[in-house]
Amino acid sequence: MSFSAHIVTLFPELFPGPLGASVLGRGLAEGLWRLETTQLRDFATDRHRTVDDTPSGGGAGLVLKPDILARAIDAVSPPDDPRSRLLMSPRGLPLTQARVRELAAGPGAVIVCGRFEGVDQRVIEARGLEEVSIGDYVLAGGEVAAMVLLEAVVRLIPGVLGAAESHADESFEHGLLEYPQYTRPQQFEGREIPAVLTSGDHGKVARWRREQAEALTRARRPDLLAR
Ligand code: SAM
Repeated sequence: MSFSAHIVTLFPELFPGPLGASVLGRGLAEGLWRLETTQLRDFATDRHRTVDDTPSGGGAGLVLKPDILARAIDAVSPPDDPRSRLLMSPRGLPLTQARVRELAAGPGAVIVCGRFEGVDQRVIEARGLEEVSIGDYVLAGGEVAAMVLLEAVVRLIPGVLGAAESHADESFEHGLLEYPQYTRPQQFEGREIPAVLTSGDHGKVARWRREQAEALTRARRPDLLAR
């Protein structure tokens, strides 16, 4: 069974968007992963297809109603669905490459995209939604966040990346940021490719890359080294 993603959203027309391009799009066309969307509004019951209401306790904005969202989740994900149930949310645990790897090794994910002020807390609890944040900033909706998560996950699915591309040495794979990359020409605006990289000595190249990765991580992301 290939990795299966199902998005619950008020804007299904945004998908696949960037997920339909390049290697991810080819993987989708070849059935290496699957993508479905569900329009949340289809589960509203009133004439105006209302999905939100004012926040209890007052305040600005609107909150997605729990009963409607629960019906949508139940329609796409029965209780024995083995896929992760995610809610894109700035309050969630920050997405990491480790969680991305776990998701890529699993059967898939049902991903709820919030809008407005967010989602009624009771449906988060009742349907066991795992809140996932893509960073410490606030987007207008969960759709782009879901695309970010899926792009990170799907490129790890075996067969999606071509032989020419690999994720073995990438940032975060070994708890370090990636070393600097170079390609021809040998000289660019007076700057040379570091001589070690053209020396043909694989041991030296590996050592240099490791030192560079550690120095970059120490300078930019000491929190990664501390972990
Ligand atoms: N009132 C919410 C808060 O302060 O936490 C923000 C709601 S935001 C305007 C609307 C929706 O965008 C959220 O429900 C979530 O689905 C999505 N979203 C916004 N920022 C996000 C982030 N950093 N990571 C993941 N999803 C995000």
